Amino acid sequence: MIATLLVGMLCVYLLSFSVLFLLISRRLGREKMGMDAFAAGNLALGAAYVLQLLDGPAGSSWLSVVNHACTLGALLAYSVGGLRFFGRSIPLLGPLVALVLGYVAVQLLVEWAWGPVARYALFSAACALWFAAMVVVLLLGLRTFARALRAEALLLAALIGGIGVLNAVKLVKLLKGGLAALSMDGQFQVVFYVYMCSLATIIPPFVVWLVLRRLTDRLRDVAARDPLTRLLNRRGLTEALEPHLRRSGGGGRLLLIDVDHFKRINDRHGHQAGDAVLCAIVDVLRAAVREGDLLCRMGGEEFAAVCLGADAAAAGRVAERIRHAVASTVVLQGPDCEAVRCTVTVGISGAFTDEVSLAKAMRVADAALYRGKRAGRNRVCE
Ligand code: GH3
Ligand code: MG
Ligand code: MG
Repeated sequence: MIATLLVGMLCVYLLSFSVLFLLISRRLGREKMGMDAFAAGNLALGAAYVLQLLDGPAGSSWLSVVNHACTLGALLAYSVGGLRFFGRSIPLLGPLVALVLGYVAVQLLVEWAWGPVARYALFSAACALWFAAMVVVLLLGLRTFARALRAEALLLAALIGGIGVLNAVKLVKLLKGGLAALSMDGQFQVVFYVYMCSLATIIPPFVVWLVLRRLTDRLRDVAARDPLTRLLNRRGLTEALEPHLRRSGGGGRLLLIDVDHFKRINDRHGHQAGDAVLCAIVDVLRAAVREGDLLCRMGGEEFAAVCLGADAAAAGRVAERIRHAVASTVVLQGPDCEAVRCTVTVGISGAFTDEVSLAKAMRVADAALYRGKRAGRNRVCE
């Protein structure tokens, strides 16, 4: 009775979260983060449990054959959803149909050859193996695709590992005691379905949290970075500097870098070519600053490099390296345009250690940059 009640609850959880996942996937637009596959997984598993309710005690029946095929189909859909969440583009519909039809055929063959216990045992073994494979993939992913979500991946691996173990125990019970082991009044079935209900309660909000986390990370990134060059913008630079300024002995020196006569490049080669030149200059800047220094696009053709912890001599060396590297790089070349080179003028600030001295450093670097422009450009000024 309790197990039947739990299966009924499972149906409600799975089917209602299937609708939620579907709504989220439609809301997400082109990149669905696997939510459509999760919706399909919940639908298939919910349908499998509805069939179980309709079917009654375990035995030879078409409903249980379809139930087992749908359950394995759900595991495939969840796996595809997980891989899609981590950016792998994997098809679902074709493999899903092939798996469901193929597994129906395999079940009929097994039942015909060895009877229903063998078919149920095959199902438990397939589930246990599939869950074990999911755990292995998640644990391997801790070093690669799931590196940024270590805690989440570990929790998921533990939860999935639990249901894998329960399926393995079910297999042993089936082999020892036959179909009586699957009696809905038995203690094991109650434990099994309590665990399944817990999973169905924990995992969907957990998946929603993963999507929310991904979206908020992206929003933060969009707000903090310049879309053309992917460098930090002013807001991003201020945020990135905060932890350094909180630390005692933190801070550094600021270089303001402005491309000389950039308007001429736009006028001569067009705005798109101008964009390409800006990206080429950013590549040069990235290679010229020291590891750990921060780069930012202040706006237009003006950039900032923050040399963390640098004294005047070190900041001067970075500025000179930037000036020389830009001047000696071909920043634009195409079949119908000659090699384009350009130069930059760099203004260096004094040391800053907090937000107040940072604002002053900006003004000082700006004034130095202005002096450099007036003195003829392509130079470093302090
Ligand atoms: P100066 O040596 O005095 O700095 O001269 P300049 O021509 O570099 O400076 P000015 O401020 O006169 O012109 C900057 C130009 O940069 C004007 C603007 O159209 C262009 N610009 C600003 N942002 C972008 C951008 O994102 N892409 C392109 N292609 N051009 C941009
Ligand atoms: Mg300029
Ligand atoms: Mg400028």
